Amino acid sequence: MTEKKAHGQIRQGQLITTYGPGALIDLPKDSAIIGGLETWPQKKDLDQITEPRLTDKLRVMTGVLAPELYAPPPARTDPGAPNVGIRVWRFPEWFVVHEDSVSAEKERSRRLVHRKSLDEKGRFDGREVVATRFVRACPKGHIDDLDWWRFVHGEDNNCKRQLWLDEHGTSGDLSELSVRCECGARRNLYEAAERETKPLGFCQGRRPWLGNDSNEDCNQPSRLNEGKVLSGCRKSRNVFMLMASLVGFAGDEVLEGLDVIGDAGLRFPHFLWGYPTIGRQHTHPLNRRQLC
Ligand SMILES: [Zn+2]
Ligand SMILES: [Zn+2]
Repeated sequence: MTEKKAHGQIRQGQLITTYGPGALIDLPKDSAIIGGLETWPQKKDLDQITEPRLTDKLRVMTGVLAPELYAPPPARTDPGAPNVGIRVWRFPEWFVVHEDSVSAEKERSRRLVHRKSLDEKGRFDGREVVATRFVRACPKGHIDDLDWWRFVHGEDNNCKRQLWLDEHGTSGDLSELSVRCECGARRNLYEAAERETKPLGFCQGRRPWLGNDSNEDCNQPSRLNEGKVLSGCRKSRNVFMLMASLVGFAGDEVLEGLDVIGDAGLRFPHFLWGYPTIGRQHTHPLNRRQLC
């Protein structure tokens, strides 16, 4: 069996501080969402971390009788070794196309396309695409793409013609963006951020960090999220952050013998995952999967 090459790598400390399950991440070629712990490698493929004081605290705080800690899989150094990585899912699934022309008035129009209309090279109409930075989320932590056609046309219209993202300036600010359909419908993007009118409709309970067929029932209104939001999977993420902060009062003495990267921001997470390595920064392969 041919092992697939990882789609990206991430530093160890970042897995806790920034890119826990449900976080959006830019890989070299894609935007993705880090998979939930359910999609991580099995325990037998991971190194267990023994730190009694930490597990005691976790037991008290979580109610789990015997918490177990495992290090995420390191990047393999042996090409023959199995590629045990952390699963990420391609997300968002709407993209803007790199178009050629920018008018003198600094107006820019780019086509807005869904993943399913990309070719096998991930291009549209032979052009590169980049994931849109707009997603929607709900108070319960679900995250999803915007229903762009619905946003432009309203609820009771089935038009599915080509959409465009128009920029009327260079700031990238919501007030300078609008979405346009080739049927003539148009809507300013700042309206997506309004809450009273529920412009993005209601949540479909989508949990893309768990892969396909993972929707839950949900009736919360969707809200616009822009940029690097930390999405759902709050439960897992909270545990991550709890663990990171717990290490804080474990004290410096337990760090003896473990490598501490000079960056204070990486110190605790690095210890937490327990790699006693010196002079190397561990990275973890990220294996992209496609939602369908
Ligand atoms: Zn239309
Ligand atoms: Zn929801």
